[in-house]
Amino acid sequence: MTYSMYWSNLARSLSPYIPGEQPRQATFIKLNTNENPYPPSPLVIEAIQKAAGDQLRLYPDPACTELRQAIAHRYGVHPKQVFAGNGSDEVLAFAFGAFFNTPGDAAPLNGFGPSPQGICPISFPDITYSFYPVYAGLWGIPYRTIPVAEDFSIDYQAFKIASGGVVIPNPNAPTGRALPIAELLSIVQGDNEGARVVLVDEAYTAFGAETAVPYIAEHPNLLTVHTLSKAASLAGLRVGFAIGAEALIEGLCRIRDSFNS
Ligand SMILES: *Cc1c(COP(=O)(O)O)cnc(C)c1O
Repeated sequence: MTYSMYWSNLARSLSPYIPGEQPRQATFIKLNTNENPYPPSPLVIEAIQKAAGDQLRLYPDPACTELRQAIAHRYGVHPKQVFAGNGSDEVLAFAFGAFFNTPGDAAPLNGFGPSPQGICPISFPDITYSFYPVYAGLWGIPYRTIPVAEDFSIDYQAFKIASGGVVIPNPNAPTGRALPIAELLSIVQGDNEGARVVLVDEAYTAFGAETAVPYIAEHPNLLTVHTLSKAASLAGLRVGFAIGAEALIEGLCRIRDSFNS
């Protein structure tokens, strides 16, 4: 491991995610990063070509209005309930910062007062997407993992404990096991009437699970996270988005606009 005396304590403390290898030669059947083997829709290529003109001189619309309107239309929600980011990895990183607490945090001095969630660790399954502990490390968020059952299914009852937040992919990755929506919503409800935020990572929902999007209106603590990288075959485009109550979307915007607007 290379190492530098110039690294901050934060940089020293991280265990960065190691992405799946992208070999330079195209001689492999590539299965390691779950890219779609089929090409994206020709209409998408056409739209990208149209957009890649003189417009590139200008900064894009910081609110991603057109994209958020299209997503809202597709999912039957309001554009104010949609957040768009540079891949769902970025949306997830922002969500960890927006909704989960860090022991070192001081109460803000701006009149909002401290977060009522305290610093209880967040929970996610073991086995799951290996980026979650990395985000927790970046923000200094304590976490605990909840083992999957012998058959790799998620024991939803085990998630109904006091926690600072929950992260759960549905279906889970890389096991492919899906939770029935009633069990997922029971986790969202939790042991304390939805006192903490539950992030449902829907990267693979199109392949075999029921989406939780129709339940965001009833559950102000439910945020679903989506990507165009897998089912839509657009991993190179780096587009991810989240759907949830307007207050959650505003929380994400606060982090984004403190980082890269
Ligand atoms: C692929 C994947 C992502 C990341 O998708 P991007 O939008 O390409 O950043 C997020 N969550 C899970 C579970 C994934 O498998």
